Amino acid sequence: MDGRVERWVRPEIRALNAYHVPDPGRLIKLDAMENPYTWPAYLRGEWLEMLQCVPMNRYPDPGAAELKAQMRQAFDIPAEMALLLGNGSDELIQLIAMAVQGPGRSVLAPEPSFSMYKMIATFVGMDYVGVPLRADDFSLDMAAMLAAIESHQPAVIFLAYPNNPTGNLFDEKDVEAILKAAQGIVVLDEAYTSFADGSFMSRLGEFDNLLVMRTVSKMGLAGLRLGLLAGPAAWLGEFDKLRLPYNINVLTQASARLALTYVDIFEQQTAQIRKDREKLMQALVAMEGVEAFPSAANFILLRVPQGRAQSIFDGIKSRGVLIKNLDGASPLLADCLRVTVGRPQENQLFLRALKASLASS
Ligand SMILES: *Cc1c(COP(=O)(O)O)cnc(C)c1O
Repeated sequence: MDGRVERWVRPEIRALNAYHVPDPGRLIKLDAMENPYTWPAYLRGEWLEMLQCVPMNRYPDPGAAELKAQMRQAFDIPAEMALLLGNGSDELIQLIAMAVQGPGRSVLAPEPSFSMYKMIATFVGMDYVGVPLRADDFSLDMAAMLAAIESHQPAVIFLAYPNNPTGNLFDEKDVEAILKAAQGIVVLDEAYTSFADGSFMSRLGEFDNLLVMRTVSKMGLAGLRLGLLAGPAAWLGEFDKLRLPYNINVLTQASARLALTYVDIFEQQTAQIRKDREKLMQALVAMEGVEAFPSAANFILLRVPQGRAQSIFDGIKSRGVLIKNLDGASPLLADCLRVTVGRPQENQLFLRALKASLASS
C-alpha cells in the first residue's frame, strides 16, 4: 500500500482499537446489559402479521412522526420539548459531537463511564477530558469536575445516569451544580432509567443546557437500534440537520410502534429484573472474597481478589457464562468484573460459576 493508509487516515483513528464485541457462542450471555426475556407468543404473532404489510419498497417516514408521538407518551417527554430519534443512542452521541466539534473543542465525562463518549470524541476530532470518579463509591468528585469544567470549558458533558459500568446514580444536587457551572451542553444519558428511581426528564426546560437521552436497548429492544434525545428545540433543530435522512428504518419504526403499545410487558420484565438484581446482590454480598457495588441498573459491578480478575473471568466462561472483565479498563476498575442480571436460573448458574472459580483459580 506504499504508506498510503498512513498518509491519509488520521493518526488518532489509526491508533484506535475497534470496539470489540466477543462472540458468545453457546455461552449464557450476561455481558451486554440485554433484557433476557423474549416476547410472549401473542405479541410475536401480531408482530409477524403486521410485518407482512410493511412497505419494504418505500423509504421510511423520514420524521418518524407516529413513532415519535408514541415515544412522547411512553417516555413522559414534556410537551414543550423537541424530540430527535437515533439509530441507537450511540448515533445521537455522534450527532451531538459532530454539531459542536472544532479546534480546541472538548467532550468531558466522568471516568469510568460509557466508553463511546471518548471514542466518538476521537472520531470527530475533539479533545476528551475524563475526570476520575471518587474511588470509594464512584460518586462524582465535584471539586475535580468543577475545576475541569472551569479550565476546559467543554462543549458537551456526558453524564450516564445511572452510570455504566459502575451502576450508581449520581447525586442529584451534584448534577444540578454541573448544569449550572457548564457553559456548554450537559447530556443526561438515561439508558438504564427503567431500573432506577431518578430521572431528569421532568426537569427539561429548567436549564437551557440540559438534554436527556434514552434508549429502548436496555428495556428489552436492543435489536431494534432506537434511541431518543429530548430537549429544547433550539438545540435539537441544529442536531437534526446532521441526521442522515432515513436513520430509523421501516422495520424499526413498525416494530417499535407495535412494541410500545405493549409497554406494560417491558415494564413487567424490568420489574422482574429489578427484583432479581436484589437477589443477586444479596448472594454476592454474602460471598467471601467479593465486593459488590450497589446498582441502580440491570447489572452489578464486582471486585474480586487482587490480580485474579482474568483467571476468574476465564473460570466463569469455562463454566458456560459470559460476563465482562473490566480489569485494566480504568485505574478505578482494577480487579473488577461486570455481570448483567439475567433470568433467575442464569443468575444461579453465574453465582455457582463464580464461586467455583474463586475457589479454584
Ligand atoms: C448501552 C448504553 C448506551 C447505548 O445505547 P444504544 O441505544 O444501544 O446505542 C448508551 N449509554 C449508555 C450509558 C449505555 O450503557
